[in-house]
Amino acid sequence: MSMPFLAFSCTSCEFKGSSMAVWGRFSYDNSAEPVPLKRRLAWCTSCKDLVPLEVLPTETTVRELESEIAHKAKIVADFMTKAEHQKTWFQKLLGSSVKMSAEIQDVDFQRSYREDELKDERARAKFLIDRRSGPKCLLCGSEDCLELPTKISPRGTDRAPGPPMPIGMKHPRCGGEFLVEHSGIRISKRLNHRVYDREGTLLRVLEDR
Ligand SMILES: [Zn+2]
Ligand SMILES: [Zn+2]
Repeated sequence: MSMPFLAFSCTSCEFKGSSMAVWGRFSYDNSAEPVPLKRRLAWCTSCKDLVPLEVLPTETTVRELESEIAHKAKIVADFMTKAEHQKTWFQKLLGSSVKMSAEIQDVDFQRSYREDELKDERARAKFLIDRRSGPKCLLCGSEDCLELPTKISPRGTDRAPGPPMPIGMKHPRCGGEFLVEHSGIRISKRLNHRVYDREGTLLRVLEDR
């Protein structure tokens, strides 16, 4: 499967980076079942590049996910109740079930997606309960990283990219502004499975199939 990616550059130097840095499968080594590792795009001072940075579980994330799931579940339930009341006598006679609208189906899909995220976040919280170190660069293990802004929304679309725009962060030690744009390219890449210990230290890299 080919995927689109974002291209990063700098206003003052030749730096080029991409969102492909976070691609692949990352997990913690756990004898029972591997625990998925959450990561985000960041600048690593020792790699001097955009890297996947570990994101440690927090109680706030668990709470936010729980309330988002409850909110979406309520939207779906309200829709279903209303639709049930609006059935015609003929539909009731046939016992036909209520169909979700496309919009509600989407809300329901997002709810189930968030439920998977919550399951993973809880698994991480349990597995990393004794974690001592802070989040690490998943390439070199350094903790000296700067997170990129959470919301990066380049102009245009991945099929029709707009001009590069600032992400609101300076290129460390360079002073230029980081820019982002849709690359306009979809690529398919052989991805690896990187396995880490409880402190975020890389144990092995497997070829993912
Ligand atoms: Zn620069
Ligand atoms: Zn690094």
